[in-house]
Amino acid sequence: MLRDNEMIASFTTRRNQKGNLGVFSASRALTPSTRRPGASAIGNRQSKIGNQVIGNRLAGCFLLLSLAATSLGASEPIQYQLDLRSPASHRVEVVMTVGGASPSTEFQFPAWNNLYQIRDFARTVSDLTAECDGGQERLARIDLETWRAEAKPCAKLSLRYDVYVSGPTPFSSDVDGTHAFLNFAMLLFYLPRERERAVHVKLLVPDGWKVASLLEEDADGFHAPNYDLLVDSPAEAGQFQDYSYSQAGATYRVVVHADPKDYSPDRLLASLSRITATETALMRDVPFSRYTFILHFPQEAPGGGGMEHRNGAAITVRARGLHDHWEGLESVAAHEFFHLWNVKRIRPQLLEPIDYVHGNDTRDLWFCEGVTSTYGELALLRAGMVSRKAFYAHLASAISELQSRPARLFQSVELSGLEAWFEKYSDYFRPERSISYYNKGELLGYLLDLALRHATGNAVGLDDVMCRLNDDFARRGRYYTETDLRNAMAQVAPTFGGLEAFFADYVSGTRELDYATYLNYAGLELESQSAGSARLGFESSVDSTSQVRVDYVERHSAAAQAGLALGDILQEMNGQPLRDSPGNLLAQLKPEQDMKLQVLRGGNVIEIEYRLETNGETNYRVKEISHPSAEQLLVREGWLAGKTAAAIAKNN
Ligand SMILES: [Zn+2]
Ligand SMILES: [Zn+2]
Repeated sequence: MLRDNEMIASFTTRRNQKGNLGVFSASRALTPSTRRPGASAIGNRQSKIGNQVIGNRLAGCFLLLSLAATSLGASEPIQYQLDLRSPASHRVEVVMTVGGASPSTEFQFPAWNNLYQIRDFARTVSDLTAECDGGQERLARIDLETWRAEAKPCAKLSLRYDVYVSGPTPFSSDVDGTHAFLNFAMLLFYLPRERERAVHVKLLVPDGWKVASLLEEDADGFHAPNYDLLVDSPAEAGQFQDYSYSQAGATYRVVVHADPKDYSPDRLLASLSRITATETALMRDVPFSRYTFILHFPQEAPGGGGMEHRNGAAITVRARGLHDHWEGLESVAAHEFFHLWNVKRIRPQLLEPIDYVHGNDTRDLWFCEGVTSTYGELALLRAGMVSRKAFYAHLASAISELQSRPARLFQSVELSGLEAWFEKYSDYFRPERSISYYNKGELLGYLLDLALRHATGNAVGLDDVMCRLNDDFARRGRYYTETDLRNAMAQVAPTFGGLEAFFADYVSGTRELDYATYLNYAGLELESQSAGSARLGFESSVDSTSQVRVDYVERHSAAAQAGLALGDILQEMNGQPLRDSPGNLLAQLKPEQDMKLQVLRGGNVIEIEYRLETNGETNYRVKEISHPSAEQLLVREGWLAGKTAAAIAKNN
């Protein structure tokens, strides 16, 4: 996935601009912040062990149960009917029917999906009733997410309920007078003991609406082999534009909900088809017959981003963003498309089985997300959609981003992934508290690729590791562990002696990345320059009453020592009334300059004075060295063009 903040980072870095941190915290603050008791790591672990115990205990009597259940219809798919015919109400009426329900059937509603955030979807469910063979059924509420039917079997057990749905795309569901975008984990219960059971979905839509789904369609809806695949397959209903193209034996469907004036279909299909061609060639694989992009280009949206699925991706970019940064859409599409392998098929064991209540252990996200960003960027470069110069600028900017965050010295990239669940709290994003597994993971992808190519004289690169993982795990239906990941690299490049140290220092450790050494393998060098701008020592934002409020004061900063506090309202800066955050006025301020703030605190006006410090941040630049050796050139050309020695020899 890629959230708006990551996309913005990508846009700005493409233009080699700094200062995206303000945008980061602003857009991140928009994510919902619900607090759920009991979702601790311990709870998570217990629940997983619990599932396994239940699985083992049930194994013995499974045959008996399934024989009994078959006669009652348990082999029938679970039926879901979703009524969307009053879309302006933001309500979906759902009927779920379970044939051959066993006694005390439990129903569970996911607490999360897509985003690695507990979002308590059950909060949107209301008017829940149940029927057993035509008679009223009493449901006992077991916990926040779980309901239990009575202790008698039902040939036909149905639930009826109503879900309130209010966007935004692509991480939530959205229903309004113009369309419906459905993430089924936010709408549909599952049977915790029968998640493997087939499902069938029927949508009742307003007149004139079409439906597009990532699932297999049939006469009266669509179906999936199990609940996990169902909720990994969003659907769009409405009056969207519908395009398709064929490539290497597969069909690509492109569903666009937008004002047709906001984009050129030719340009869109040209961009997408170059991306899909480049990445399928890179992976030497087309593991689907149909892949669907569901695209939203709204005029107004609180955010945007991309969400990967096994057989498609949902992407939202503001219409204005398309005009200003078409390459931003290309970047997110290249990232999401690569996920069809990395995370969806090449999948860490820790993400399975999915625990829809407590969440899963996400410490592998540096690889699942970060290395997906590595490949998103490399694919655009190798497809000729971005220049080498722009790629170097992007790389330098990614380095600047990591080096600007003091948390890199104590939070490993593995822990940054594990703690992804804190990202619903905006204060977690403080540079002193966290790093981004997208950012550092992307950099580690580049460094690993360079190290593998250097160690083997460009005989192999990270592409070969991805293909090996695809062969050994994805195609065999196995999930990988971190040990498997290291083994795959060792098998592909036995001469890369630094592998264990790389993981110990850079993945589970917090050693500073040795950019110079790795870039030098490709005859590149890193130039650094002090940014030399003024350091405010605090962050602020304009609240709904147009007051400038201090959101965060950096520890040990001059502002903190002068007594500035969280929640202070800034009225004047250096004698001038303030209407904007000082962070947006940095161009007017110089290091060592006197700063005078008039502050409103608890009804009193206070003067805060201090001397502005110099920002310790560094700007980086990646450049080619003047006289690279033949070996360095081999690695550089191999890396940037995505070729290994054997392939280059073949082409010459
Ligand atoms: Zn992603
Ligand atoms: Zn839509």
